[in-house]
Amino acid sequence: MIALEHENDLVAGIDIGGTSIKAVLCSGEDLSVLARASAPTPRGGQAMIDTSAGLIRSLTGNTEGRLVAAGLGAAGVIDRSTGTVVAASDSFSGWTGFPAGQALRDALGVPVRVDNDVNAFIRGEVRAGAAVGARHALGIMLGTGVGGALWLDGELYEGLSGAAGEIGHLPGYGDLPCTCGGTGHLETLASGRSISARYRELSASSPVTSQEVALRARQGDPHALSVFRTAGQALGHAVLVGLGLLGLGTVVVGGGVARAWDLLGPAIEAEVRREPPVSGIPVHVVPGKLDADAVALGAAAQFSSDGSALANA
Ligand SMILES: [Zn+2]
Repeated sequence: MIALEHENDLVAGIDIGGTSIKAVLCSGEDLSVLARASAPTPRGGQAMIDTSAGLIRSLTGNTEGRLVAAGLGAAGVIDRSTGTVVAASDSFSGWTGFPAGQALRDALGVPVRVDNDVNAFIRGEVRAGAAVGARHALGIMLGTGVGGALWLDGELYEGLSGAAGEIGHLPGYGDLPCTCGGTGHLETLASGRSISARYRELSASSPVTSQEVALRARQGDPHALSVFRTAGQALGHAVLVGLGLLGLGTVVVGGGVARAWDLLGPAIEAEVRREPPVSGIPVHVVPGKLDADAVALGAAAQFSSDGSALANA
């Protein structure tokens, strides 16, 4: 247990992504972001932690506050009790099996907690973003892939394996092959990678990023519009499943692809309106508010029980 002793007590949050590591320094009192920094992601577990610790030190060096804890969010399966990375994609070399929490604790000398990045995203949005105060929420992150996380009864719900809420790899969305080896998963229609691939197939164009597909959709390109409509429909279906199964009234959609909310939002809403939930529960599907800070801030929020105090460290 860490007691908040001084109003200058600070909590750091780290987001280890495939291309960059982002750090935020937050007020321990209300999680407001006081400073941020980032650096390219190096290769290897210890190198990633060294870079993370260096970013935090560069931020705390410029303040009078005292660092009391640090939270870390990273892709992959994380054992939250030990802070060890249980499984990670090939894009993170030397990461699977790495005791990330212990290494960052050794480097900084403060308590550290580690969580999966999508878990951190929904925690951040519930504590300080688009879903402040929500008791129940589904978080969907649209990046290269599709991640999901569940917030139930005011806390993260992990399920048996720690992977509850991972809706990206649920079937029922057509017959395209998924990156995981499965077929017809939500990710095959709604991830950045699949938006690029679907557009390329339809338009027979050279490869473009999902951001470029969004630009073309806004210019009226029918293939680009169709790809985003299909992604939105699939996400709307996922929202309805979450609502029907768990009574979730709030869904927060984040990640890079969600920046095309002008395209995705209406398609999601149309799908939800087409098959309104039998329960009659109103559903709010909103884009994330914290943008690039979401994962780092949500990682820091592991040390904040309600955004007003540090607890349970
Ligand atoms: Zn899959």
